[in-house]
Amino acid sequence: MYMTKFDPKFLAEKTWDLYQTHGVPFEVSFEILEENGLKLDHDLLNQLIESHQKQSQNITAGQFKAGVGEITNKTKALHTLTHLLHKALKEKYGDRVNQIGSSITNEKARFDISIPASEILDSDINEIQNSLNQQIKQNLKMYPKEYPLSEANKLGAIGLFGEKYGEIVTIYTLEDEQGKIYSREFCSGPHIENTAIIKEFKILKKKSIGSGQTRIEFDVIL
Ligand SMILES: [Zn+2]
Repeated sequence: MYMTKFDPKFLAEKTWDLYQTHGVPFEVSFEILEENGLKLDHDLLNQLIESHQKQSQNITAGQFKAGVGEITNKTKALHTLTHLLHKALKEKYGDRVNQIGSSITNEKARFDISIPASEILDSDINEIQNSLNQQIKQNLKMYPKEYPLSEANKLGAIGLFGEKYGEIVTIYTLEDEQGKIYSREFCSGPHIENTAIIKEFKILKKKSIGSGQTRIEFDVIL
């Protein structure tokens, strides 16, 4: 297929290329395009971001995902909650929601995802916050278990991309006392053993961090 200079797909590739090779922020490209009345294909740009993210995750085999600095009960709790948040976001907005970054300090957690901030309503934030607080109260146990890759894929564990992780993978599962599974995710930790130590989960804010990307900041009270 022949693409002209003004083709939205071409512009999406160019925008990604400028970011990737020259560090030109997406916002800068968007502004220039808008000033010139040009449109880029946001879906394609998101695909490019996502496939890059998956490659980075493969290289670091899970280290990337956690983003935990200092390890304390609080940072472990914050990271453990990223699993429940990730799952809740996928349930609400579908599988196109992917984690694209996370950073955790003793103050708060940042969780970056691949959907536009405009799609996440304030009422959604409340709903997700309430849902996670309900889940925490079920005293969910977090435990690692090794699975053959094919089986882990069948279980629908989050964070598995192809076969680059090897034949045996470690999946962290959050499960209640009745054995109901709340989340299964490929990860390397660090985690708390039980959500019983958490008194409250609080979403502090959400903000746009570029086209089709949102940062959610949250905190916990232990
Ligand atoms: Zn984890």
